[in-house]
Amino acid sequence: MGDLGRVIKVAGPLIIAENMTGSKMYDVVYVSDSRLMGEIIEISGDMASIQVYEETGGIGVGEPVYLTNEPLTVELGPGLIQSIYDGIQRPLDLIYETAGDFITRGIQVPALSREKKWKFTPIVSAGDKVSAGDHLGFVDETTLVKHYILVPEGISGEIISIESGDFTVEEPVAEIKTQNGSKAITMMQKWPVRKQRPYCQKVNPEIPLFTGQRVVDMFFPIAKGGTACVPGPFGSGKTVIQHQLAKWIDANVIVYIGCGERGNEMTDVLLEFPELKDPKSGEPLMKRTVLIANTSNMPVAAREASVYTGITIAEYFRDMGYSVALMADSTSRWAEAMREISGRLEEMPGDEGYPAYLGARLASFYERAGIVKCLSKKQDITGALTVIGAVSPPGGDLSDPVVQATLRVVKVFWSLEAKLAYSRHFPAISWLNSYSLYNDTIKEYVEKNVHEDFFNLQADAMRLLEKESELEEIVRLVGIDSLSGEDRIVLMVAKMIREDFLHQNAFHDVDTYTSIEKQYIMIKTIIYFYRQANDFLNSGVDINQIEKMKVREMIARMKYIEDSDIEKINSIFHDIDSELGQLKKDDET
Ligand code: ADP
Repeated sequence: MGDLGRVIKVAGPLIIAENMTGSKMYDVVYVSDSRLMGEIIEISGDMASIQVYEETGGIGVGEPVYLTNEPLTVELGPGLIQSIYDGIQRPLDLIYETAGDFITRGIQVPALSREKKWKFTPIVSAGDKVSAGDHLGFVDETTLVKHYILVPEGISGEIISIESGDFTVEEPVAEIKTQNGSKAITMMQKWPVRKQRPYCQKVNPEIPLFTGQRVVDMFFPIAKGGTACVPGPFGSGKTVIQHQLAKWIDANVIVYIGCGERGNEMTDVLLEFPELKDPKSGEPLMKRTVLIANTSNMPVAAREASVYTGITIAEYFRDMGYSVALMADSTSRWAEAMREISGRLEEMPGDEGYPAYLGARLASFYERAGIVKCLSKKQDITGALTVIGAVSPPGGDLSDPVVQATLRVVKVFWSLEAKLAYSRHFPAISWLNSYSLYNDTIKEYVEKNVHEDFFNLQADAMRLLEKESELEEIVRLVGIDSLSGEDRIVLMVAKMIREDFLHQNAFHDVDTYTSIEKQYIMIKTIIYFYRQANDFLNSGVDINQIEKMKVREMIARMKYIEDSDIEKINSIFHDIDSELGQLKKDDET
């Protein structure tokens, strides 16, 4: 702990101190003898502006500021999984234990337990040459996550010794002979949160990340290592969709960052998340989750730090070769924290008072997503970090600067709309306003691994939904009877797509998740029905008869058919033909 600065001004979470010569941007400092943690965010002469992560009430001019000359870092190692941290990686349960409901200021609890011993199993041996990013061994951190121990950045050389056994995160598990002498490697590393963790090379996001949610996978898919944004107006079913994604998305590790506004929003997350079950193993989902929660009694500045804490932890698991999904809710709260601090720094405000660098900050956050070839030269490791950010614009207004800046960088927009939720259409993701820019990048993979017809069916279904919205206007004005038979079929089939395909009940055992193969067969059936109905209409079958067809009921029940019984859906094609054939026969007689 270094030299002393002196507080000369306190403005909410912002403190100005003098005598700060030698400090650097983003260095961590401790303010006053209560040791409130803060970060330097502006330097001018020997003065520095500090954003403080704890309540600054009672701090006065003249109090000391201790310099650390180090940036804000996170601890990375076994013990991360199942943890619930605050924005600066203090374990919330331990803080509560030590300090009770009202977090005492200046409390310091290590992020990773220093006492717990982990069973380390090496996968390389003495004499092996290793360099940064290589896997040295692993710890079975939970039943769902094998935690690989990586050679830290900046270290390479020959392994002198490596041992299996039970170790704490501070005890050396290996020794490496480097050019600068021998280095002891522990299972814990530290990393500055504002610095992207390095990788060898970014790879094009060409593999889809399926979620089992039909509206997402079939219409607005996200790629592994991709980015998405979802607004969450009040009462839109946001919590349910987030839980569904966390449970079903094809990821090994979930990092969830909660920046709630009101205290109870966060309490919900803290109570609900630990209750969720991992559907594949039946174990608690927490066994592959890290939660970061900004509680309401922490000042806004901590929200600013929390997104960086979260994404650094997510990158660390990516570096082990995992598919990691990071969900941040809500990034609007993070942007508001930026706005508040910027206002106090008296920076020139941009749109709606947000700082001019809002867009750049959001972009540099989302740019940390990606599918990458990891650093390791020894092992061929690919990891993916997918980022899903929720936005909560005031009044649901999508022209809000945070939403607009986010949409400029993310590639998928799932437009969650309260009006769909009011009409009980769940998930309330609009099929008309959402989009995905990954359709082209994942095309080859999907056509090869799911079906070559996938995107044709997607386009056909989307055309029908768009046509429906045009026709609805006409129906409103002049009634359904004025429509041609063809248009009535469009309306009938679009309704089928909405109700029998897009609508998905998160609480139904089978409906809650649909494999991509089943999604394909479902949509294929509906489009087949559309084509056949049109053909038979043109050959003279009465539209009123087509509208009454019994097979429609079977189509409505497709979603409840188990994956293992997918053949039952295939038989519907035959039923469509035979019922239409019968109608035609009846017509002719
Ligand atoms: P929000 O977080 O936006 O306030 P919730 O996610 O809690 O809303 O959803 C509110 C209610 O809507 C839920 O309790 C549930 O009854 C219903 N709901 C939301 N999504 C679904 C879904 N996919 N399937 C079935 N019901 C849903």
